[in-house]
Amino acid sequence: MSTRDSSEILQRAADGGRISPEEALFLYTEAPFHALGEAADTVRRRRYPEGIVTYLIDRNINYTNVCVTACKFCAFYRAPKHKEGWSHDTDEILRRCAEAVELGATQVMLQGGHHPDYGVEYYESLFRAVSENFPQLVIHSIGPSEILHMAKVSGVSLEEAVRRIHAAGLASIAGAGAEMLPARPRTAIAPLKESGERWLEVMGIAHKLGVESTATMMMGTGETNAERIEHMRMVRDLQDETGGFRAFIPWTYQPENNHLKGRTQATRLEYLRLIAVARLFFDNINHLQSSWLTTGKDVGQLSLHMGVDDLGSIMLEENVISSAGAKHRSNLHDLVWMIRSAGRIPAQRNTTYEHLAVHWTPEDDPTDLRVTSHFSSITNKRKPLPVLDNA
Ligand code: SF4
Repeated sequence: MSTRDSSEILQRAADGGRISPEEALFLYTEAPFHALGEAADTVRRRRYPEGIVTYLIDRNINYTNVCVTACKFCAFYRAPKHKEGWSHDTDEILRRCAEAVELGATQVMLQGGHHPDYGVEYYESLFRAVSENFPQLVIHSIGPSEILHMAKVSGVSLEEAVRRIHAAGLASIAGAGAEMLPARPRTAIAPLKESGERWLEVMGIAHKLGVESTATMMMGTGETNAERIEHMRMVRDLQDETGGFRAFIPWTYQPENNHLKGRTQATRLEYLRLIAVARLFFDNINHLQSSWLTTGKDVGQLSLHMGVDDLGSIMLEENVISSAGAKHRSNLHDLVWMIRSAGRIPAQRNTTYEHLAVHWTPEDDPTDLRVTSHFSSITNKRKPLPVLDNA
């Protein structure tokens, strides 16, 4: 394909036509950067003509770092019986939820390791406690790999696991654990994790039961460009069937304190190009979120010109990605500034992307400085992993 071909594909995608995985790969590797961003931004403008960019206030609460899956890229987990392993009891989790509510959070993201003792019953009890005590917090939590794990521990079907945790209060499933869905790169970084097909199977079951989710992708652990596009194809194919993904959220691998040290991280340019291709490729997913937490605020702001309509969360607590080196911090003022100085209108949203407050003018911007993210400063400071205990 030639530059002329890329213009034709970009025009078709900008007009709302579907592009093939082969065309997406061609655009990703060959299309002129500016033209790629312009086409993606055209799609964004057609979908969101008012120029609104959304953000969310939530708290990411980790209930345990004990995990039997030992992903090589993960700096957060500790093997069972490791002296640095910990689990928070329900009272501590509820205390953190109360703090989140006090700071204006509308969502809680409960995430943790694959603890060998945590079956469906544990999650039912946890979600019930949170939903009964804090009905104002939407529980958008865990991911398919936790669901696969809990179903195995409890000896129940995936469908039963999803039905039960949904009944206990889980509103929607986070896109966590997708990493890279194709087999080769997935096995290289997470050999004990369930396959990409199983990740999609859980999402498919949940969507058919009315439990929606997001989809993520982790870039930069040595996967090829073709494998990045293949990951997106796998997500798009399921979305054609179920329509249950609300957003696609690519992020970049963080290389500290884990066992993949030295692997290439995705460059900022690769990330921005991928963002734009994702906006053109996912004609069936409404929202595209960029990860300023892993790429930085400047890239987060640039992504708003490459098709992005959502900057995700002011996270009141985050320990998993920051354990691996993500150092970017923000507060509500920074996030609103990122959006406004990109020429867009900031709006706080809820989990289902409804606008809670649109800041039409700078006078409408929030002024509450208490809403500041505290990555790993609250607890769980950790040292680099010396050895991998159960790989
Ligand atoms: S990424 Fe999740 S499943 Fe993998 S080792 Fe870390 S906590 Fe466990």
